[in-house]
Amino acid sequence: MSQFTLSHRSYQKMEGIHLDLRRIVERAIDITCTDFTVLEGVRTIERQKKLVASGASSTLRSRHLTGHAVDLGAYVDGCVDWSWPLYHKIAAAMKQAANELGIDIVWGGDWTTFPDGPHFQLSWQAYPL
Ligand SMILES: [Zn+2]
Repeated sequence: MSQFTLSHRSYQKMEGIHLDLRRIVERAIDITCTDFTVLEGVRTIERQKKLVASGASSTLRSRHLTGHAVDLGAYVDGCVDWSWPLYHKIAAAMKQAANELGIDIVWGGDWTTFPDGPHFQLSWQAYPL
């Protein structure tokens, strides 16, 4: 039995995302040492435009628009915790899960120009659309 489970709310947030991404998240929650919650999956273009305008996102080609991306929040004592070290732990679980399943993912925390710790997406190379 795993230490953590995905909440009903997390499953709701994953509605419409690519099945391969969902499989990674479902495996990652079994092996992570830091609990996490799904913050956002599919995003509308209207919301994306607002995020770009506010500086919270840098692109209108977000993989959230097509269900190829998900944002995860570290969940500590009932709250989302934004401290970076926790996201390295979540990323380790996500990368291990992806590796086990043979699915190519990218962690936003590895981006140098616009690091995005909560963000995970299926690679453009393996999933051009
Ligand atoms: Zn994201």
